[in-house]
Amino acid sequence: MALLGSLTQQTSAMKDTSLNDTPSLDTPEKQGLFSNVTSNPLFSAGFGLIAVGAALSLFKKGTTIGTSVLRRKLLVTLEIPSKDKSYLWFLQWMSHNAPKRQVNHLAVETSFKQHDNGSVSTKFGLVPGPGTHYFKYRNIWMQVQRQRDGKMMDLTTGSPWETITITTLSRDREVFKQLLHEAQEMALKKQEGKTVLYTSYGPEWRPFGMPRKRRLLDSVILDKGITDRIVNDVKAFIGNGKWYNERGIPYRRGYLLYGPPGSGKSSFIQALAGELEYNICILNLSERGLTDDRLNHLLSNVPERSIMLLEDIDAAFTKRSQSDNQGYQSMITFSGLLNSLDGVASAEERIIFLTTNHVEKLDPALIRPGRVDLKEYLGNATDYQIKKMFLRFYDDEALADKFVEKTRGRDISTASLQGHFVYYKDKPQEAVDQADSL
Ligand code: ADP
Repeated sequence: MALLGSLTQQTSAMKDTSLNDTPSLDTPEKQGLFSNVTSNPLFSAGFGLIAVGAALSLFKKGTTIGTSVLRRKLLVTLEIPSKDKSYLWFLQWMSHNAPKRQVNHLAVETSFKQHDNGSVSTKFGLVPGPGTHYFKYRNIWMQVQRQRDGKMMDLTTGSPWETITITTLSRDREVFKQLLHEAQEMALKKQEGKTVLYTSYGPEWRPFGMPRKRRLLDSVILDKGITDRIVNDVKAFIGNGKWYNERGIPYRRGYLLYGPPGSGKSSFIQALAGELEYNICILNLSERGLTDDRLNHLLSNVPERSIMLLEDIDAAFTKRSQSDNQGYQSMITFSGLLNSLDGVASAEERIIFLTTNHVEKLDPALIRPGRVDLKEYLGNATDYQIKKMFLRFYDDEALADKFVEKTRGRDISTASLQGHFVYYKDKPQEAVDQADSL
């Protein structure tokens, strides 16, 4: 009751004060009232709590502001979005350089290597996974945060948006540039003197396996004059953008290589890419889930300095007509393909190679001039090719002529010739003696 009584007293006292314009403690009653209030243990405890709370929140705010000021003054951060080229370079660099003990959460990046004999070796690259990592670079500690945004998507790739944030002390900001340079150099060194093969991955191009050693042009032996014709044509085309531009012609050139399997079509394109120091983007038109839109997007966004290769171009549509009910997955239409080929307009030159084993199955619309500007037949080995191939393996002109005599008039693919010479490696006489086994 006493408690209630004193509370009513306080409220009425407060009411009194609020009624007064300028509350003062000049009268003895008021002074008594004030001391009453302050001496009340409950009331003063309440005030105390409020004051402590306010002080704490002020302190908290102060420290937050303080920390952010300190952070701003002392720390520097670098943000690399997943869209940026440096993103993969940095991850690869980190997987090589940050000692594994410093990074506990890893993600795997698998790369495939296909050898010439067809065997495949797989390499697992361990890169820092999403989360926070610490590592030391040139004796400077750094914090790396790899964050994945669950909601945001990179619209060009369809993959989740990611950012890497690197934080270090302000005074060490110069080290970022060195680090990025190092990462870039490391990535480019891997590709130096090599040909990168890209395949489509959803709507984007991704390197397929490790970059391959460049294939030398003279390692692919085509019939007389063909190599020169194609190489000269491509070289004349490259760097001639002004001519096309002035005439309003799309800056692209199409090539068709046709002929039986094993005549060196793919090998030649690989060697040509090596000669031009270009990479190759391979697209299989029979690929599952390929639609006209995706095809269009892929053809319009080919990585720079790349040859676009559409292999076995006849297969996509013949399969479609044969096996509509058999789960054939590709959704592209013939007109979609034509549109994509025609629509490829870009400031960069576009070199497109089509290959087929069955030129007779191709719709004439697909290979009319403008879409295909140069057609070359790569057939079974001619005398010229047989002799040249023999001499590449064995340095014996007389035996080479004998070998040509023995194989004349037979349909032998250059691929099987190569197999024969590899089998009789260092045994030219036996290679000639056993020519009938081809
Ligand atoms: P295609 O694409 O015409 O089917 P490939 O280029 O895949 O033929 O050749 C298959 C194999 O045969 C490759 O290992 C390649 O080195 C060899 N080969 C085929 N033709 C030639 C050629 N004209 N010169 C050198 N090697 C060849």
